[in-house]
Amino acid sequence: MSTNTTARKLTLPSDQDASGRTLGDEEIALVTEAIRSGTLTSTKGRFTREFETGFARMIGAKHGHACASGSAAVHLAVAALKLEPGDEVITTSITDMGALAPILFQGGIPVFADVDPVTYNVNAATIRDRISDRTRAIIVTHLFGNPCDMDGILHVAGEHGIPVIEDCAQAFLAEYKGRAIGTLGAIGCFSLQQGKHITTGEGGIVVSNDDALAREMYLFINKAWGYGDAKPDHYFSALNYRLSELQGAVALAQLAKLEGVVERRRATADLLTEQLQGLPGVATPKVTPESKHVYWKYCLHVDTEQHPEGAVRLGAFLRERGIACAPRYIQKPAFRCEVFRDQRTLGNSRWPFPLARPEAVDYRDELFPGTLTALDRVLVLPWSEAYTKEHVDFIAEAVSEGAHSL
Ligand SMILES: *Cc1c(COP(=O)(O)O)cnc(C)c1O
Repeated sequence: MSTNTTARKLTLPSDQDASGRTLGDEEIALVTEAIRSGTLTSTKGRFTREFETGFARMIGAKHGHACASGSAAVHLAVAALKLEPGDEVITTSITDMGALAPILFQGGIPVFADVDPVTYNVNAATIRDRISDRTRAIIVTHLFGNPCDMDGILHVAGEHGIPVIEDCAQAFLAEYKGRAIGTLGAIGCFSLQQGKHITTGEGGIVVSNDDALAREMYLFINKAWGYGDAKPDHYFSALNYRLSELQGAVALAQLAKLEGVVERRRATADLLTEQLQGLPGVATPKVTPESKHVYWKYCLHVDTEQHPEGAVRLGAFLRERGIACAPRYIQKPAFRCEVFRDQRTLGNSRWPFPLARPEAVDYRDELFPGTLTALDRVLVLPWSEAYTKEHVDFIAEAVSEGAHSL
C-alpha cells in the first residue's frame, strides 16, 4: 500500500472534547440554576425529572427513569425481570461490556447469540438458535445506531413468551417501521456517557410502557426504598443508581439538541454513503428500508476475501491521514473477555456460572461464524454531529484512495 505524503490533513471534531460535542451556554445556564437552587439530589430537584418526562415523551414511551450510566440502565432492566439464579439471558457477542456485566450481577447466565456478518446485529435466526427452556430474557443491541430486525426478533420472543430488552445506548431516535427504537421491546436502555449522541459525562435512562416494570426499575435506582408509599421499606436488594441534578440539568439542555444532533449525523453520513458508492472491496452500511440509522459510528465493511487483512490495512491508511478509526471495533467477541472466558465473578466462586448448562457457555468458534467474520471486516469510523461537508469530503477522499490501494 502506498501512502500519499502530500495528502491534506484535517483535524476531525472529536466526541471526547468540545470540538465534537454540543455542550454550551444552555447547559451552563441550567447547571448554574441547579447549583443556585441548592438541591443537587434528583429525588428532590426538578431537572432530572423534567429530562425523564421530556425524553419519554420525545420517543413515545410512557415512563422514563434516569440513572447513573448505560450499564446501570441495563442493570435496571435485568433486575426488573426478577431472574432466578442460573436463568439465561440471550445477548449479543458484539456489544459493550455494560450490556453484559449486569446479567451476571443479577445471577443470570449471558448466552451469546451470533450476529449477522453484514449488519453486526443479532437477528431472529441467531437468537432462535440459543433459546432454551431456561431463557428468561433477550437483550438486543442496536449496534452503531442501526436498528435490529425487530419484527423477526419480537416474533421469536413472542412465541416463547420472553421479554425483549433493547440496548439503545448507540441508537438515540433510531426508528424501525416508524416507531422509536427503545419502545418496541419491554424496556429500552440508553447511555449518556461522553461519546454517545447526547451526554452528561456519565449517565443513562430507561424507558418502558409497562407500569410494573417501570416501578421495579424506579425502585432499583433508589435502593428499593418505596418513596411515597404508605409504609415504605427497602423491599429488595438494590443499589443507588441515581443521576444527580448537576447531570440532570445537563441532560435537560442536551435533550433539546438531540433531534438536531441526529439529523446532522444522518445528513453527513448519507453524504459519505453517496460518495463511497462503487468503491472496490469496501461497502457502506447496510440499512433496511424499515430502519432509520442514527450513525453513532459509521462502519465500512471491507471485503476480506479479496483483501485479507483489508480492514486493518485500510484502518492504518486512514489513521495516517488523521482519521481515528477502529478495525475490529471491540477487538474480540465479548465472550473472549477474561470475565467470561475464566469466569471471574464473586471471589473464586465463579457464581453464577456453576449453574449454567454446558451449551449456554460453549464459546467455540464454529458457533459464531457471523461474529468472527464481522470483526474481521468491520472498520469503524468516528462520527459526529459537528462534521461538515468538508470533513465528509476529506474522509471520502481518504477512504477512496485507501480502497484503491488495497
Ligand atoms: C456505551 C454502551 C453501554 C454502556 O454505557 P455506559 O454509560 O458506558 O455504562 C452499553 N451498551 C452499549 C451498546 C453501549 O454502547
